Amino acid sequence: MPGYELIGEEEKREIMDVLDTGVLFRYEFLDQRRGVFKVRQFEERFAAYCGAGHAQAVTSGTAALKVALSALGIGPGDEVITQGFTFVATWEAILEVGAEPVFTEVDETLNMDPADLRRKITARTKCIVPVHMLGAQARIAEIMAIADEHGLPVLEDTAQATGARIGGRHLGTFGRCGTFSFDPVKTLTTGEGGMIITNDESLWRAMSEYHDHGHDHQVNPGGRGGEGRRFIGSNYRMMELQGAIGLAQLAKVDGMIAAQKGHKNRLREAAMAIPGVGFRQLVDEAGDSATHFAFFLRDREHCQRVNEVLRQEGAGAINFSENTWHYYARWEHLLGGKTLASSGYPFFEPGGRRRLLYDPQALPQTAALLQRTLVYPVSIRMSEEKLAQMCRALQLAAKA
Ligand SMILES: *Cc1c(COP(=O)(O)O)cnc(C)c1O
Repeated sequence: MPGYELIGEEEKREIMDVLDTGVLFRYEFLDQRRGVFKVRQFEERFAAYCGAGHAQAVTSGTAALKVALSALGIGPGDEVITQGFTFVATWEAILEVGAEPVFTEVDETLNMDPADLRRKITARTKCIVPVHMLGAQARIAEIMAIADEHGLPVLEDTAQATGARIGGRHLGTFGRCGTFSFDPVKTLTTGEGGMIITNDESLWRAMSEYHDHGHDHQVNPGGRGGEGRRFIGSNYRMMELQGAIGLAQLAKVDGMIAAQKGHKNRLREAAMAIPGVGFRQLVDEAGDSATHFAFFLRDREHCQRVNEVLRQEGAGAINFSENTWHYYARWEHLLGGKTLASSGYPFFEPGGRRRLLYDPQALPQTAALLQRTLVYPVSIRMSEEKLAQMCRALQLAAKA
């Protein structure tokens, strides 16, 4: 998963280009910056890498979701459908634009179950946000077909899957737009940062303006202060230092994925020794970014026994049914409607009555699946000793 493993000379060189000019802002300072536009260049290269028409850099993956939802016109009164296995940021952004998140089950792809998506669409649904969790693809073709039937835009949360593809086509390019995160544990990292890609030029313009206080970025005699605006915006601008690091990291992404694939294959082979083991379904194995290795055991008890052996061998795996940041039933703050807003909106009516309720038992399929799923993060640099230890642990777990 982590690009932080490869921070090195290339990143330093890119950063020094910025510090040599002293311009940290992505706009203006034309005399001083001597043609250095790192964020703009990062956007252009990221769009080209993904095969998208446009890219908009922002401050984080969460900001990317918020800017994209805003540009899609999502707001109060709207429902946005996402999945019950994702990072909290996906639905935080939905709440932040004033809309209400609705959650689907995940299937054996560990991503949005298209059959459940169909059941969750209502007259208030305004957007669908499938997430490509743990480096691999949601069933985006089926999801797009359902969205098209209903005339709904799809925003792909591709935060965890930079560089992943289906049939060579990059994730994030199937929907109206795709968002990415460059936070410290993501494949490509800029410390903090995010990106939105789209082929829709007018959508990109709306994102570009919204993320910069509404600035229309039209050349005019008054410079930046003379720019016009079409609507109220906010500030989610990426800074030049992040753009510089992004350029260096982007050049390394395909190499990172290749290294991870090699390590993942070793783990998969070892895990095949476990009777009854199954593997996460990949829509396109060749396009997996291999940031994680996920495998299924027979049931919850089998899963716990296997992980106990793995732990004893110093190679315990993640069970996401216990994870408080990625799994619906563990989001006690969402389930309890715990917002800082003193009105309690959108969870409570002005009188204190509950208006938006999330039932912890609402996703039984996801619960049953995650309870028997174990996940190893796969890194770029894994020593032979570490890999051998993990493989030995998996082989011993065959007797669990
Ligand atoms: C990391 C992540 C985000 C948010 O990205 P930040 O850059 O940390 O704000 C959004 N969605 C998913 C699925 C993520 O994993």
